[in-house]
Amino acid sequence: MQRKHITEILHYLGEEDLPSGAVNPPLFQTSIFSFKDFDDFSTAISDETNHFLYTRGNNPTVNILEQKLAALEHAERAKLFASGVAAIVSSISAFVQSGDHIVTIKDCYSWTSTYVAKYMARFGVEHTFVEGSDANELEAALRPNTKIIYLESPTTFTFKLQDLTEVASLGRSKGIKTIIDNTWATPIYQNPIDFGVDLVVHSASKYLGGNSDVVGGVVAGSNEDIKRIFEKEFLNTGAVPDPFAAWLILRGIRTLHIRMPVHFQNAMELSRRLQENEAVEYVLYPMLESSDQYSLAKKQMRGGSGLFSFKLKTRDIDRIKRFVNSLKFFRRAVSWGGYESLVSPYAVSHRDPGENVSLIRIHAGLEEIEVLSEDLESAIRSAL
Ligand SMILES: *Cc1c(COP(=O)(O)O)cnc(C)c1O
Repeated sequence: MQRKHITEILHYLGEEDLPSGAVNPPLFQTSIFSFKDFDDFSTAISDETNHFLYTRGNNPTVNILEQKLAALEHAERAKLFASGVAAIVSSISAFVQSGDHIVTIKDCYSWTSTYVAKYMARFGVEHTFVEGSDANELEAALRPNTKIIYLESPTTFTFKLQDLTEVASLGRSKGIKTIIDNTWATPIYQNPIDFGVDLVVHSASKYLGGNSDVVGGVVAGSNEDIKRIFEKEFLNTGAVPDPFAAWLILRGIRTLHIRMPVHFQNAMELSRRLQENEAVEYVLYPMLESSDQYSLAKKQMRGGSGLFSFKLKTRDIDRIKRFVNSLKFFRRAVSWGGYESLVSPYAVSHRDPGENVSLIRIHAGLEEIEVLSEDLESAIRSAL
């Protein structure tokens, strides 16, 4: 496949013939498409994967975005979904049936984990959770009925990596599908398909959209796999993105390659400074040279995003609350990937946090580094 330059993908691909020389595509806010005659109508119904018939299947605005996402991930094809979770569960379901087994990463996204452990179990699909950082451990978890190895590298609270080359070749050698959640690194910094991974999923609600104004998801892979996911899951479950959501993601994605280096730089600088702060026990950011998996991170990623976590030395919940409440420029919120900085304490989302009571997740947004740094340091000073 001929690789396209990032600007060619983001600014031009799929938009060669826009009407009236428009530099943004029209929003095809239409539910149905009509046909000139019986035969055309019939052809579209028999091959909905490749035709515009009904917006619960394909839509031209959505398809422009899908072409860009596929090219960014070095995939043949991509499908946009209503949410990241919809893309994830559909790409899992498409390849398993009752009696099959899934191996997945212990610290993967919470709803992915719930789907595999609880939802799939209702339909007789078994699972094993693995740490993931050791390919031998992962291999030992495989069974004759294993159909999927589900990866997330890095994970987004604990920042653990899996060796994509090793795991992908393990999957290939045994005919097991490998799927990875690539939301953290984005295609700007990591292209799992180049290492042999079969399918890449994203929450487009994070960096792809990039403005905290839209929810969406994507799966990218081979023509054959995407056709299967489209026909078996997408059409049946109706997790269809609204054309306007696709239009917003298209607008957001044009600046992806400009935003990511700023998130990366801000996260590097903040995590370095936090590491030197006496109140901090440790920082988890894969691109720090001191990180456990730094050499693996360098091997498979060209950079990092704005999300990292750190642990305060204190275990006193009142001090932790004071720290969180003192922040001015880090908003207290879930999700991440927008222009704005966020804080998400582990103890907010986990009922029994135990040792992790002082684990704090930070999203470094696009603000000036000194503003963010001063805010974090003064919140630490005022709390501890
Ligand atoms: C947010 C997120 C998801 C879920 O995506 P939604 O768009 O919220 O459905 C999946 N994986 C990761 C790593 C995420 O951060």
